[in-house]
Amino acid sequence: MIAYFENLPRRLSAAAGDDDFNAADETNNGDLKSFGSDFGGMTTSVPAAVIQPSTADEVASAIRFARAEGLALAARGNGHSIHGQAGAAGGLVLDMRVLAGPIGLTGGPGGPIAEVPAGALWAEVLEWAVTEHGLAPPSWTDYLGLTVGGTLSNGGVSGQTFRHGPQVVNVSQLEVVTGDGERRLCSPEAGDTDLFFAVLGGLGQFGVITRAWIPLLPAPDAVKWIRVVYSDFERYASDAESLVNRYGPDSFDYVEGFAFVNCDDPVNGYGLVPLASDRQTFDPDRVPQGSGPLLYCLELALHCRHGDDKVDQRAAEMLKPLGYVKGLEFCAKVSYVDFLSRVNHSEAEARENGTWDAPHPWLNIFVSACDIVDFDREVFRRILRRGVGGPMLVYPMLRRKWDQRMSVSVPDGEIFYLVALLRFARPPPDGPSAEEMMAENQAVVDRCRSAGYNYKLYLPHYRDQSQWAVHFGEKGWSRFLDRKVRYDPAAILSPGQLIFSPEA
Ligand code: FAD
Repeated sequence: MIAYFENLPRRLSAAAGDDDFNAADETNNGDLKSFGSDFGGMTTSVPAAVIQPSTADEVASAIRFARAEGLALAARGNGHSIHGQAGAAGGLVLDMRVLAGPIGLTGGPGGPIAEVPAGALWAEVLEWAVTEHGLAPPSWTDYLGLTVGGTLSNGGVSGQTFRHGPQVVNVSQLEVVTGDGERRLCSPEAGDTDLFFAVLGGLGQFGVITRAWIPLLPAPDAVKWIRVVYSDFERYASDAESLVNRYGPDSFDYVEGFAFVNCDDPVNGYGLVPLASDRQTFDPDRVPQGSGPLLYCLELALHCRHGDDKVDQRAAEMLKPLGYVKGLEFCAKVSYVDFLSRVNHSEAEARENGTWDAPHPWLNIFVSACDIVDFDREVFRRILRRGVGGPMLVYPMLRRKWDQRMSVSVPDGEIFYLVALLRFARPPPDGPSAEEMMAENQAVVDRCRSAGYNYKLYLPHYRDQSQWAVHFGEKGWSRFLDRKVRYDPAAILSPGQLIFSPEA
């Protein structure tokens, strides 16, 4: 195991005496700083050392060392958090990307299973599963430059969630190193069941996930990819909800959607709608007279095999009952891998125009279906009527596809929506400051609270424990506290979540 450090050479060297650490180098502060920032770009929490473990046993050694030294420790996946959740100021950061290694194929009673090191990116899982085996996990995120351990510590949602549940319910077994440095295998059947459910959506609080077993299904060859535009939110929501409740051959394999500004703007408006792989353009003359400040785009996909000449007809039949604006439909047929990699195109664009490296005050909220029409009226059409400099996702998922034994907290009711404000604004003077965007996020959350919406933050960020207690609710919070005492009694893990601080 390699350790990069600045202030801890003697203590790490002492640990190196029993071969736990190969303290490679005293590194410069710049290297440590790069592990102290994240995709959000708004926080800096420089660690004292970065550890690069190559096995689960090395993760265990690092945790035992941290505990003995009274240091906080955070597993860092790919650093795609927004508010420093994967940081450990003055403590140890475990660079989980080093724990990527080869992925294995095993079998279970229900079919093939991928045995994946937790530091692997979902893009690497996709490449391995589809290209080498013609198989695929059923549930994805939109963007695949995230680690398996990172999304399993949060939820992992996308347009497949309505059917297969989030990524946290598509795991059969985990290898976890708890906060007392013990390596354990856990699963709903084979033991340590409570630990299994605790770490799923557990925000890194109960252990470091080092390996995950993910059931696989046969991968389709291609995808019929469709976007259709609505001018009326109630019709949009009613169609989206009926689609996620459909089963059988006339149901789509992917249902997502987003709100966009009713204007000819490439970043917030019509420019968001046409598919990258398609040459169609958005015809503004098709937008009904009297439409409001926002329009809505339902995004759908239908899996198919090469040579399936019926897929276009099937899709056309399934679109018929939907109340979108006729003439504003966009379709393409792309390979399954290209479909799942669709965000790469936006990433490349954002890197080129500088918005990938600018601050990203993103806000993700789950809002119950019973409040979503009011949310549209009061939040989308008032507070956010000029857009957020990127997509404003809003699509439904089914609560019964989530497992309440896990640590993730979701709203009550049968259906809730993911609302994601994916801000890609240019930095000032061309765009708003991070503070202005944060203030707008706060106004959105304040509206949710004052209107009494049934909502939960996804990828939550709170500054004090009383807010966390409200987030989890009375029963959930008491279970969270019990689990913390059981699995990380010294409270050293993932301090950047600002839930607990290490015991003195
Ligand atoms: P990090 O940000 O590095 O870590 C996140 C948290 O998990 C930290 O607290 C960390 O300590 C902990 N952690 C990391 N690895 C482990 C581990 N192995 N064991 C225990 N704890 C660990 N989310 C979705 O659900 N759907 C999406 O479509 C989606 N798209 C995104 C697109 C972009 C461009 C970005 C920036 C984020 C997106 N996210 C999405 C959010 C993403 O799920 C979270 O950022 C998540 O944290 C994964 O990122 P990461 O692997 O970089 O983890």
